[in-house]
Amino acid sequence: MRQLLHLLGSLLAAVRQVFLSVLNYFKRLKESRSRYYTRQRDKKRAASGKVRKPKETVPPTEKPLDIVYPDDLSPEIDELPVENIVRQNTVLPDEDVVRQNPTASEKIRARKLPSLKETLQRFTAGKRKTIRPAYIIAAAAGIFVLAGLITYAALRSKNVYTLDVTLKGDPVVLLEYGTPYEDPGAAASYQGSVIHSNDQTDLPVSTKMDEEPVEPGTYMIQYSAEYEDMKAGAMRIVHVVDTVPPEIKLTTNPDAYTLPGHPYEEEGFTASDNHDGDLTAQVTSEEKDGHVIYTVSDAAGNKATADRAIVYDDRTAPVLTLKDDVPLEIIAGDEWKDSFTSIDDLDGDITAKVKVEGKVDNYKEGTYTLKYTSEDAHGNASTAERTVTVKPLPKNDPSLAVNGDKIVFLTFDDGPGEYTAELLDILAKYNVKATFFVTGLGNHQELIGREAAEGHTVGVHSLTHDYDKIYADEDAFWEDFDAMNDIIEQQTGSRTNIMRFPGGSSNTVSAGNEGLMTRLTVQAQKKGYDYYDWNAYDGDVYETTDPKQISQNIIDGIQQQSISVVLCHDTKEYTKDGIEDAIRWALENGYTFLPITFGCFECHHGVQN
Ligand code: ZN
Repeated sequence: MRQLLHLLGSLLAAVRQVFLSVLNYFKRLKESRSRYYTRQRDKKRAASGKVRKPKETVPPTEKPLDIVYPDDLSPEIDELPVENIVRQNTVLPDEDVVRQNPTASEKIRARKLPSLKETLQRFTAGKRKTIRPAYIIAAAAGIFVLAGLITYAALRSKNVYTLDVTLKGDPVVLLEYGTPYEDPGAAASYQGSVIHSNDQTDLPVSTKMDEEPVEPGTYMIQYSAEYEDMKAGAMRIVHVVDTVPPEIKLTTNPDAYTLPGHPYEEEGFTASDNHDGDLTAQVTSEEKDGHVIYTVSDAAGNKATADRAIVYDDRTAPVLTLKDDVPLEIIAGDEWKDSFTSIDDLDGDITAKVKVEGKVDNYKEGTYTLKYTSEDAHGNASTAERTVTVKPLPKNDPSLAVNGDKIVFLTFDDGPGEYTAELLDILAKYNVKATFFVTGLGNHQELIGREAAEGHTVGVHSLTHDYDKIYADEDAFWEDFDAMNDIIEQQTGSRTNIMRFPGGSSNTVSAGNEGLMTRLTVQAQKKGYDYYDWNAYDGDVYETTDPKQISQNIIDGIQQQSISVVLCHDTKEYTKDGIEDAIRWALENGYTFLPITFGCFECHHGVQN
């Protein structure tokens, strides 16, 4: 519309120029006509010799045509430059005011052109034919120009100049956080609404921005321009928004897995946001249906999620444990029982499913290799292996005791007792011959015969083993002694010349009879008896009740000297239980067990009474 008005204004300006030219033409025409008539009249007068009054062309009754020209034809107005008349924002003086300008109106009205009728009569009369077409054209042009002028005046009266600031780009900008803001600026123009002779474009615009639109928020950018005492402005709103959600990165360990039915163990994750930075600490996770869902939101409310599919697996083999309390070396005939466990992280105790390849025949000498395989439900297997050696039963061979070294005399006091029979079985098993210093206590005297029958030596210890009684005096001692030897004779068929003093020859329980032991030891030898004390001891009276310790004490004791006389008591169960290991160790380590025989070895304590 504005363009159209501008075009129209230009057109009217052109029309105005044409009109003014035509007006000048008529003015000049009138003047030339006037001069022509004057010359003709002067010629006629000169020819007739009289001065004639020119004939009236227009009847006196005819009223002359009154043509009212627009006020704008005032030369005062026309000659003024438009700029001086139309000020911006200034409405032209009202048309009526101009119309009432007496000088302009009167001047126009004072102009008298020939009336139309007069002109037509002149034309139809066939006189001055060269002038008539000019009148017709002038009349038409006049009407056209008149209309143009009226339009132009009306338009110019409406012309208003405005100063406008026009934004380049959008008035509201949505800017993603992190994107640099480039202000497209604004343009200022100064423009008439209809007539554009003083238009200005590309006027300077100042931009005011309180803060760079970087952080999320709303920013106003103000544009202003000044021109010809006018001010104009415009505003742009920039919304910096953060619509980028954080990013969650999951750490995945290729070796990690979760046991079926077990909770997922986190492998790690990080979360970062383009605006908020590290959000790892804000991440929440939830395990559901085999997935872990991670969620985090940034300050702008942008939510991010990540999904981890849990890898369920079992890649760990069961822990197969072979118990070390199972002997790896046994002697043929020994009981041998395997023991192991297999525990799987997922399946639990699968000991019962362990497969064992190989078998130990505990009655047959040899080396047995056992291979164990334990496989869990996921096919993870553990294997183990161990070798069990079954040795032949070691046998004591007295004939090997030739060097007088590593000789062991096992001696058992105070029996026979309730464990003596078993003890005899053990000794028989290894062909070990021992010495029994017997008493009349208990109800197992019949075993004395067995002891002797099986190659053991039977010696007198005491019938009553009553220290107060036997060590009262020499007679009491020998009376008790003989009674015991009677029993031995009854049981074995012969008396014995081997003896051991109760409490040993070094005893002090006999201190009530001073010098008794000195006398008794001498008397014993004079009576033909060989008495034996001991130089090793299994500790079975007061020191221990543990079979293992009994065994260990014997093993330790017999290594202290080349020929050992070991004190034991076959009245103790733990002695019976501990003796076998000691015998085995001794046999495997080159010791030879011998029974005491008369004069075989002197083992006397120092007599203390
Ligand atoms: Zn005793």
